Amino acid sequence: MKAVLDHVGIAVKDLPAALAFYRDALGLHVEAPEEVISQRVRAHVIPVGPVGHDVRGAGAPGVNLELLEATAPDSPIAKYLEKRGPGLHHITLRVDDVHAAVAHMKQRGIRMIDETPRPGAESSTIAFIHPSATHGVLVELKQSAPGTSTQPPTLGTQHSGGPRDVRDSRVLRFTVGDFELIAVCDGFIGLDGGSMFGVVPKPLWSKTTYADDRNRITLAMRSLIVHGPRTMIVDAGLGDKESAKFHDIYAVDRSRNLDHTLAEAGLSAEHIDVVLATHLHFDHAGGFTVRDSNGKVRPRFPRAQYIVRRGEWEDATHPNVRNQASYLKDNYVPLAEAGVLQMVDEDQMIMPGVRVRRTGGHTMHHQMVLIESGGKTAAFVADMMPTTAHVPDAWVMGYDLYPLDTLAAKQRFVKEAVEKEILVFFQHDPAVAAGYIRVENDKRRVEPAKG
Ligand SMILES: [Zn+2]
Ligand SMILES: [Zn+2]
Repeated sequence: MKAVLDHVGIAVKDLPAALAFYRDALGLHVEAPEEVISQRVRAHVIPVGPVGHDVRGAGAPGVNLELLEATAPDSPIAKYLEKRGPGLHHITLRVDDVHAAVAHMKQRGIRMIDETPRPGAESSTIAFIHPSATHGVLVELKQSAPGTSTQPPTLGTQHSGGPRDVRDSRVLRFTVGDFELIAVCDGFIGLDGGSMFGVVPKPLWSKTTYADDRNRITLAMRSLIVHGPRTMIVDAGLGDKESAKFHDIYAVDRSRNLDHTLAEAGLSAEHIDVVLATHLHFDHAGGFTVRDSNGKVRPRFPRAQYIVRRGEWEDATHPNVRNQASYLKDNYVPLAEAGVLQMVDEDQMIMPGVRVRRTGGHTMHHQMVLIESGGKTAAFVADMMPTTAHVPDAWVMGYDLYPLDTLAAKQRFVKEAVEKEILVFFQHDPAVAAGYIRVENDKRRVEPAKG
């Protein structure tokens, strides 16, 4: 494994005094601070290597000092200062592939703080090694932000002979009549394989689907851009409001997220006119809102109207013990407070050529989206068929509240999809963003669409 020094993190209590030393006495250049909201920390980067600090641009990244300032009392830096006082906090080593590096460490029995790499600053992916394994120094492994859509899908870990952990977040474009449809992605999440495949036993699903050592399978969090006279996004992934603990439980990998893929599609949050929700689970609605630097949660798409099915809204704002872990109010209540929420009560047209249809099943009011133009049809089926593995009838999620309703909705839709050659978008499939369902010898298969 190759690792080079990236930066040294220094916890500071009194920033002006620290600047008086590093900037004024040493005469070093201090860059504009950068806030890592999830860690409640502000980093002041000081280039000290032979090559300047330039991780954002094309140049080679240099070596930096980072003065770390807590922005909230519960920040890890605040806790560190309280316990140990100001001083050396961590060193960061840059590696080419942080997932491979972590797997390598774990194989050798090295104790990790992050068993799974997670997002860091500037779209990097990071993992901390426990100081008990590093002889007393907190060590962070870091992989810099990945490139753009020319990037091939990553082929991660593989059990001997079994399926690989494939992650394909490339942006795909399709034309359906007058619409351009663009598949974008907010990264990946790991959910329990058993829950994802319901009554299907692991010996069957594990033949085609990779599971990690905590039995989690990799799922993409895809959104669909419907670009016509107006620009709509269907669902918006997880977003960045969740804690490190949440990221660990759900193996969140947002190293390439909706901000990156939207930018590749030539769009930004400001371009979106309409945000349409299939339902309000956190992996679909988390990206509807962001927490600003004052800690206030506000709509992420500043110009957009958000469209939610009323029944789903009622369920999400009155959760029960069975569904409450999926409904996080910060993802949608601020929309109502900001006055950007619009409810639909029944199956209807959202804009010419785009309509919603209730599927039920996954949640009582879960809806799919149909896009019809120029004699062609596309469908964003969301959690009715989250991956291509869920196309056969019996493969219904254990998470579904009304699995028999999912089955009925799926049977109806698949028949239609085969007959009308519908372009089907698979929101959670880690490798196939869209495809056509074919039936051969009574067996269904998906022919991936290239875009
Ligand atoms: Zn869901
Ligand atoms: Zn989902």
